[in-house]
Amino acid sequence: MELLSQFGCYVQVAKDEILKIPEIDLCVGTNEKNNIVEIVENHLNDKIVLEDVFKAPEYSDFGTVTYTEKTRAVIKVQDGCDRFCSYCLIPYARGRVRSRNPENVIKEIKELADNGIKEGVITGIHIASYGKDFKNNYKLIDLLEDVNKIEKIERVRLRFNRAIIDFTRIYRKIFKT
Ligand code: SF4
Repeated sequence: MELLSQFGCYVQVAKDEILKIPEIDLCVGTNEKNNIVEIVENHLNDKIVLEDVFKAPEYSDFGTVTYTEKTRAVIKVQDGCDRFCSYCLIPYARGRVRSRNPENVIKEIKELADNGIKEGVITGIHIASYGKDFKNNYKLIDLLEDVNKIEKIERVRLRFNRAIIDFTRIYRKIFKT
């Protein structure tokens, strides 16, 4: 059996357009992606699985490792954006800022390091806003300080859209850790 499905941002912002395409069997919004197996099993006859992304209360955690190369892993820590720049659809597709539980981030990076990964690239939709939705004032710098304590990981970079900043080099130079 074949199932043609559309996932993510475009479903979130243009579901009516996608629903007009008869060949598409299933549409799934941005916040439901990590439940894909369950969605396919349970909703095989439904055309669309989509929640109001602005009502998503917290970060939808994919668990360990979204993408890995031989020695480098990409670690997503945040979703959504509150900036609403006039030209950008991202807030409508990804919703408000939701930050990943730092304990899960640290756990993932430790697991990666234990498995020989040398470099972690921390990413998200608007990572400068990491922690904005937490009540304890824990921010991106706090996360980076905690990540910096993980001994086995040699390098941590931050990815802001196309720019990648080598955090460990800068941080260790400034704080001499
Ligand atoms: S993702 Fe970037 S461009 Fe889009 S609304 Fe947020 S800050 Fe603006």
